[in-house]
Amino acid sequence: MYASNCFYRDIATAGSARWFEDIDMKPARLMKIAALSASALLLTGGGVVASIPALRHIAVALAHDPASLSPVPGDPRVRFEEGAENCAFGVAALLPRAVAVVEAAHGRPFRHDVNVGVFASPESYASSNGLGASKPSGVSFLGRVTLSPTLCGPDRDRMGAVLTHELSHAHLQGWLSPLAFARLPSWFNEGLAVIVSDGGGAEGVSEQAAREAIADGYAIAIANEGSLFNLTAVNFVKEPPHGSFFETRLSVYRLAYREAAMFVAWLRRRDAAAFADFLQRIEEGEPFAATFEEKFGAGPRRSWEAFVSDLGDRAD
Ligand SMILES: [Zn+2]
Repeated sequence: MYASNCFYRDIATAGSARWFEDIDMKPARLMKIAALSASALLLTGGGVVASIPALRHIAVALAHDPASLSPVPGDPRVRFEEGAENCAFGVAALLPRAVAVVEAAHGRPFRHDVNVGVFASPESYASSNGLGASKPSGVSFLGRVTLSPTLCGPDRDRMGAVLTHELSHAHLQGWLSPLAFARLPSWFNEGLAVIVSDGGGAEGVSEQAAREAIADGYAIAIANEGSLFNLTAVNFVKEPPHGSFFETRLSVYRLAYREAAMFVAWLRRRDAAAFADFLQRIEEGEPFAATFEEKFGAGPRRSWEAFVSDLGDRAD
């Protein structure tokens, strides 16, 4: 999705949101966490208005669990709204490979069975995805992946990538507590999901275009941790201006995802063993920044600078 806040994670395709993703988590506990988050917002004196719709969308989504939808015969992991049956069959056909790809990339199985909801109407999708919005192509929320009806229509070709992207988020959410997941920086979550899905969420933005954007100063901000109250999935240090090559909000989001993916891929390429161990330790709930520095020899920001320097060297 385009924006993310403390309760969802994302969307590939727009964007990404963050979540609260422990399948074992009871709704009452979730709402307690939501209430605590709202209290924290009140204490900060800002963002209260932003927090209230988020809480409402969470409550609506809790009452619209895709698990109540009809299961695909033979694969009850996939549920569908009436009218989306054919699309759900397609999702079920893609699911085994998507699960295998995510488990191989993350280096461990899913902690829980995956749950995927396929929708026929934008309204139903928005009610179930925890965001209250139908624009994101997919959202992982509360251990469930919800998929936009557009993936059954004009965006059909993106279904496999978006499904895999969201499953990467769901994998992390399954292993981590909600708060531990919330502490992961968005650039890492999104970058990882994009590379795991072979480009899901960054479609249409080439690495060359991202290199040029970074050289022009439109680099993503590399935070050491995520913020419960960050309303934007992956921020820029300086937002590309309207009228630039990246003319739409969607293309700007996808640029951010592409940059994040290039950075995460660079980390993995430099030392695959260190990256694999890092991911294992993150999924065990170890602190992001300290573990990052230990495994990669420098913190996230210094590593980003090295990555950018490497981009420049390769361009020469
Ligand atoms: Zn995402």
